[in-house]
Amino acid sequence: MTKQLKDMTWQEAKKAFEIIKLGIIPTGSIEQHGPHLPLGTDFMIAEYLANKVSEKVDSIITPTIPIGFAAYHQDFEGTLSVPPDVLTSYYQSVADSLVLYGVTHILFINGHGGNANSLSAVCRNLRDRGVTSAFIQWWQIAGELNDKWSMIGHGDISETSMMLAISGNNVRLEKAAVPTNKWLTDKVQMTDRTTCKFGPGLINTFFRTGDISETGDFIEYGHSSKADYSKSPAEATAENGQEILDVMINYIVDFIHEFKKIHFKPAEKN
Ligand SMILES: [Zn+2]
Repeated sequence: MTKQLKDMTWQEAKKAFEIIKLGIIPTGSIEQHGPHLPLGTDFMIAEYLANKVSEKVDSIITPTIPIGFAAYHQDFEGTLSVPPDVLTSYYQSVADSLVLYGVTHILFINGHGGNANSLSAVCRNLRDRGVTSAFIQWWQIAGELNDKWSMIGHGDISETSMMLAISGNNVRLEKAAVPTNKWLTDKVQMTDRTTCKFGPGLINTFFRTGDISETGDFIEYGHSSKADYSKSPAEATAENGQEILDVMINYIVDFIHEFKKIHFKPAEKN
């Protein structure tokens, strides 16, 4: 039987929901990823991981929600964005639709960091109603599983490698290079999207990608002390990408076996 909601009839869906209580919702973004990666990168990676995971566990998978919150990338053409409140409401409504049919566990597989606040709000709401939920972001896990996959930045070697494995014809590897972050002043350097470094200390702020990058891709310092920032996306290979994907798929499948054991009662007070 297919796991894909889009391929079922309503009668097949009815039967599936009677026995399957885990829903998987892939979420992504259409946004610039530097000169070498397609705009669909974030949703394509999330969709690939979610499809492969769903084949290995009892689950019903919804179509990918491809557009997220990415307004801060819109200095670069082609990036699409919906406001965070609209996105939260959209994710919530899709999740609620699954709950309506008896799903008790919802796992979002998210390919884009800009969606995280919305997903967090939805998970909080679901928890209060006694639905177990979580969202998984590959870049928070890959570097913990293997140092050489530690996050370097937007459009980095790991992301490029995975895209070579998933959709190699869409990667312009000849255009890939280590990006140069713009310094904000002689003494203030961007570290990640929300912090900059002045002397030894960190200052909180918020950058649009165009503030810190000419090419759209950029380095994010500080996510991991293990990251080797000299690694160029030009060194990406499909083999490396497939290895990351396969390890991530197994990790998520292992997590789901535990996730299914977690049950909450609805909160009595909010
Ligand atoms: Zn990305």
